[in-house]
Amino acid sequence: MTRSAWLLAAFLALAVAAGGIVLWRAEGDAPFLEAPDELFVGREPRALLLRATDAGSGLRSLRVFVVHADGEAPVVERTLAGSLVAGGGPESAEIELSLDAQALGLRDGSAQLRIEARDWSWRGPLTGNLTRVEIPLEVDTRPPQVAVDSGLTYVRRGGAGLVAYRLSEASGQDGVRVGERLYPGIPWPRAGAGCADLGAQGSGCRVALFAIPFDAPEDLEVRVVAEDRAGNRAAADWALRIQPREIPREPIRLSNRFLDGKVRLLADAWQIDASDPVAAFHEINTRVRARDEARIQELVAGSQEQPLWRGVFQQLANSQVTSLFAERREYLVEGRVVSRATHYGYDLASTARAPITASGAGRVLHAGPLGIYGDTVLLDHGMGLVSLYGHLSSLDVGEGDSVEQGAVLGRSGATGLAGGDHLHFAVLVGGTYVDPKEWWDPKWVRERVDAGMGR
Ligand SMILES: [Zn+2]
Repeated sequence: MTRSAWLLAAFLALAVAAGGIVLWRAEGDAPFLEAPDELFVGREPRALLLRATDAGSGLRSLRVFVVHADGEAPVVERTLAGSLVAGGGPESAEIELSLDAQALGLRDGSAQLRIEARDWSWRGPLTGNLTRVEIPLEVDTRPPQVAVDSGLTYVRRGGAGLVAYRLSEASGQDGVRVGERLYPGIPWPRAGAGCADLGAQGSGCRVALFAIPFDAPEDLEVRVVAEDRAGNRAAADWALRIQPREIPREPIRLSNRFLDGKVRLLADAWQIDASDPVAAFHEINTRVRARDEARIQELVAGSQEQPLWRGVFQQLANSQVTSLFAERREYLVEGRVVSRATHYGYDLASTARAPITASGAGRVLHAGPLGIYGDTVLLDHGMGLVSLYGHLSSLDVGEGDSVEQGAVLGRSGATGLAGGDHLHFAVLVGGTYVDPKEWWDPKWVRERVDAGMGR
């Protein structure tokens, strides 16, 4: 080859290499941005976590700003490591930002949060691939208005109550807060009717079913609360009188037959050391009971919003009450208290293997074993109201079944921690056990529940 041919060859080789570098450094994969679909900003600053990734040349910069009617407000601007020559920016970056309406000078209304991410690619030219995401941003610094419609309300400890109230705007979350627990509200069930004759404004009418735990502290706080989507909070009080409840004490003697039979049987099934049946009983009555109650809390959380039942509950036909709600039980062996528990329901005794019927219309949340309660049916009546049927010997329904009031759910028995054939019947409101007696009382249901729901 001549000298000029060598030079040409060398030049071509360099050009190919340079072309390779250019192709590599001018990659076309834009950064990926992870951000919510919409945002609400209220009076309190809203924290927001943004995630950007770029597998090619790496991230170069992130810029976040709010676009509103009057212009732009910068939120954050960040340049990341790397260089235009070699690229080498981070493959991923997270920024935590705080959207503060006041600091950003944002007024109530619609705006947009714009996020721009660039990488170290030579495209652009040389400004990098750009990814731009625009998120609708609703600024609302006014708290919702809450007005309670219900008048003077009496609720007994261990009982339930209903309250009707109005909200000025769509709520993210609202209901009655009793201590730490929120009993969520639902739209007024009879749209367009009642709610203090508000007519079209009645769309903000809500009702909530709530409960006062029988062992609630004396200084219990009960309020109607609302939090809008922007996180603004409001609360309202109303005239609520909490009536006392007597807590009956019930000594229960544990027989040797029960300890050596039932307790050993359950202990074996649950891998509990039964060499001392009294200790095994205490273990079942405390640790296993707590586990089962936690499971019940999980199950009742599946209660649907809209009411499924109507009117008064039906009590088990021809049954005799053998144990009351909120009884403090003391279990005795040879005159010595060996364990304690609270009885959260009614025990109803009928004939053996008596048909057990649904106290009201509902949907089956659970039908099967449930620890100390044996074979159990949990029936959802909607609005957080759930009835429980324990110690059954057989089941006639399955999870998800819809049943009418009076439908046969199964047959009574002595499964679980039961000494003989009976029904353990309990009622929960929003996960709190309440006295079933109220729900069997037509006058109570009419005046305390149905009247408030406009039905
Ligand atoms: Zn019971």
